Amino acid sequence: MSTFTGKEQVDSEKLKQAQAEKLSPKKTYPDEHGELYGHDLYPERRGNKQKTIKNIVLMKDGTEHIARLHCEQRVFNCIKKHPLVKIMMSALKSAGCPVDLRRHLSCEECDSSVTGGYDPELNQIVICQNTARIEGIVGSVLTHEMIHMFDYCKNKLDFKNIDHLACTEIRAANLTYCSFMSAMIDGDAALWDMKKKHQECVKRRATLSVLAARGVSTEEARAAVERVFDKCYNDLEPIGRRIKRNTDDMNKAFFDAPYYGYDT
Ligand SMILES: [Zn+2]
Repeated sequence: MSTFTGKEQVDSEKLKQAQAEKLSPKKTYPDEHGELYGHDLYPERRGNKQKTIKNIVLMKDGTEHIARLHCEQRVFNCIKKHPLVKIMMSALKSAGCPVDLRRHLSCEECDSSVTGGYDPELNQIVICQNTARIEGIVGSVLTHEMIHMFDYCKNKLDFKNIDHLACTEIRAANLTYCSFMSAMIDGDAALWDMKKKHQECVKRRATLSVLAARGVSTEEARAAVERVFDKCYNDLEPIGRRIKRNTDDMNKAFFDAPYYGYDT
């Protein structure tokens, strides 16, 4: 009888786990924009990165070094070429927080569920060298995290305040991921429909990011996003427009940047 009960427990545990996996929006690989559930504030940084015996045996630490060099090259290329990254670099400089590549950007090995993050304690952006492996992803990660950096610098964001956190995640999703996504998914969808879908996308992404960064319930995260949504959704600084995929919005934003006082 006792074994039977034990087996039941195991099975119900397995079932719970399977259900949780099915329900969880967590992916283990980044999409082409480098977005994942669980990205962000913070990737596995302090304390979590353990040297396991397996890593040492496989000499993983050696390959890490090479991966870091490749990552730094991709970061460097984005800073030179990616229009949104260039706008963000200028915006940060104008806001009095210039980015020093060596001080503020760090390529690191992360948990496989994240592509990057912003660490407000050290004012550092982390680019995950093991998951952000193509330039397009690195560009998206940098733009997204630089919006957090900008808000932290210019808007005196307090990441411990859930409303502040929700706000910066709304802004980041709004200006990057959801703009690309809505234009791609919706195709020729009617404008009003597109607007609604875009807003839904921003709410969903921001909620997931708040959840990933804080040990709060989904309801709490969603409520924080709703509280600040209108204000933060309409704050398009410093990019100035929602970027749509397959349009030259990215370049338009780049050419408009001087009007916002950013030298590009
Ligand atoms: Zn974020």
